[in-house]
Amino acid sequence: MSAVASIKGFLNSFMLTELFKGLALTGRHFLSPHITVQFPEEKTPASPRFRGLHALRRYENGEERCIACKLCEAVCPALAITIESDVRADGTRRTKRYDIDLTKCIFCGFCEESCPVDSIVETHILEYHGEKRGDLYFTKEMLLAVGDRYEKEIAANKEADAKYR
Ligand code: SF4
Ligand code: SF4
Repeated sequence: MSAVASIKGFLNSFMLTELFKGLALTGRHFLSPHITVQFPEEKTPASPRFRGLHALRRYENGEERCIACKLCEAVCPALAITIESDVRADGTRRTKRYDIDLTKCIFCGFCEESCPVDSIVETHILEYHGEKRGDLYFTKEMLLAVGDRYEKEIAANKEADAKYR
């Protein structure tokens, strides 16, 4: 280090230059608008394509959309979906079992993309948890209940995204 640089370094230390620079920076941000979001009361905007908790949807007349084609089960890279199907008395095919193991799911969205009747979807819901492994094993009844509860938001997100598809 040259003598000039040494003197400059000594003077900077002596005059507490770095300290005052830091205080000036703190002061600038102290007066600027705060950007911390007070979650969960406040939330940041989410894309209509956000991939959260799964749901199974119904048609307006209450009929399940799912036709048990098993495309979602076949496409799932995590093997998280288990479906068993049956034929009803009226000849239509429906699932008698539709389970998703959310501890395996990687939230890739392939199931939603593959579904020909917009039955299985990923909602905007991210605030859910399980306290033991089984809590995140979602059965058909649980998935339909999520769909029933959030159908309005699911339909609005689908509509918002439709023009980009
Ligand atoms: S989001 Fe992906 S990993 Fe999860 S169930 Fe659907 S296809 Fe499987
Ligand atoms: S959710 Fe969709 S893709 Fe999966 S079995 Fe039902 S209809 Fe087929």
